[in-house]
Amino acid sequence: MSLHKELIDRDRKVTFHASTHLRDFAHGDAPGRVISGGKGIHIVDKDGREFIDGFAGLYCVNIGYGRTEVAEAIYRQALELSYYHTYVGHSNEPQIQLSEKILELAGPGMSKVYYGMSGSDANETQLKIVRYYNNVLGRPEKKKVISRMRGYHGSGIASGSLTGLKAFHDHFDLPIETIRHTEAPYYYHRSAEQAGMSEREFSQFCAQKLEEMILAEGPDTVAAFIGEPVLGTGGIVPPPEGYWEAIQAVLAKYDVLLIADEVVCGFGRIGTDFGSHFYGIKPDLITVAKGLTSAYQPLSGVIVGDRVWQVLEQGTGEFGPIGHGWTYSGHALGCAAGLANLEIIEREGLTQNAAETGAYLQQAMAKAFGDHSIVGNVRGVGMLAALEFSPDPAKRTQFDPGLKVGPRIAMAAMDENLIARAMPQGDILGFAPPLTTTRDEVDEIVARARRAVDRVLDDLANNEDLK
Ligand code: PLP
Repeated sequence: MSLHKELIDRDRKVTFHASTHLRDFAHGDAPGRVISGGKGIHIVDKDGREFIDGFAGLYCVNIGYGRTEVAEAIYRQALELSYYHTYVGHSNEPQIQLSEKILELAGPGMSKVYYGMSGSDANETQLKIVRYYNNVLGRPEKKKVISRMRGYHGSGIASGSLTGLKAFHDHFDLPIETIRHTEAPYYYHRSAEQAGMSEREFSQFCAQKLEEMILAEGPDTVAAFIGEPVLGTGGIVPPPEGYWEAIQAVLAKYDVLLIADEVVCGFGRIGTDFGSHFYGIKPDLITVAKGLTSAYQPLSGVIVGDRVWQVLEQGTGEFGPIGHGWTYSGHALGCAAGLANLEIIEREGLTQNAAETGAYLQQAMAKAFGDHSIVGNVRGVGMLAALEFSPDPAKRTQFDPGLKVGPRIAMAAMDENLIARAMPQGDILGFAPPLTTTRDEVDEIVARARRAVDRVLDDLANNEDLK
């Protein structure tokens, strides 16, 4: 038995994997893979098989794999001080420097950074801040948070409630009370009645739906709105023209805070430091993770804007120290990794590369798939791209979910040694390569993806069971 197979068998006995068919995996009926190395945009498994990672892990390894500079920064920091808590005013130098850097990138109006370990826990912190804020302001009934269908904000009890995907709610009794979901800005999925709408009209329609929801709930009960600049896990859907402008006008009207979940877009992915900068979003609170350290260490952050910060200060003036904290907040190794990572992004111009090579990626995708017979929509921005499959692109119809066309194409891509992600809802293949990706590498990703899609098209045409 190969060492790889032996490791997978051991893994089946002991590990509970995320988003996995637990029974099939435990009993050997679902595939496993042990990843043992990575360099640039490639990863390698224990058999030595090399893949292009067209999804940068989970859209997080922005600087690519195998950066010794980051490893050394973590090592040096571990020798000096691996950890000390950050409660009651304790700090470490990497934390201070990283906060300064994040605030510099975030731009005016942002005041402080609070650290966590994951995007999910950062969004838990956001919800607590929003509650505290309104309690301090003497508005205890203003607590509801509106998220969007297809939004992704994590998978805890509260962050999973913010997420607007069915698989993350069903069988967990989610969402919790106080969380609502409004229309997704998914222009491609507009209904037959909306077919004639322009993007701007559709944006107005989404804003109107939001306003109707705020009015139905009662503006005095709605505290915040949370959204990703570009819907990520919900399908990699850039917003239609004018969307954020229209949404922000509604939020301002009813004094509703805006939380920008920048876990995917933050730190260069769509060609600007933050997705908010790209779309003219002026958030009160920002959530970051993933690209903050390029996943060399688990680290997330909540960036608190001035308006909210002032109220938090006022609250502790009245009630004493804030009752919130994680053991690992501001972890010295995470912050050291974050600093080294942001230095690389800046020095190598990776945000600029995401804009330029990202534009090339969008063109290459459009060229390869724009008139493909089972591709209904080619979309993306910067280093985020998606193909949405359809049996009849002209009519924007969807495949029978039982055919699992998206997962099949992702498997076919694996056969081409390309990792692209079958997004969890709908037949959508997602791409989010590292920000270091070159034009030649884009060409290779697109060529492999094209072969994978063509193979599945052949299967669909030749296999009666799949029609
Ligand atoms: N927010 C967004 C936009 C995400 O894409 C994710 C994860 O993919 C999260 C939050 C949750 O982050 P984590 O998986 O680190 O908890």
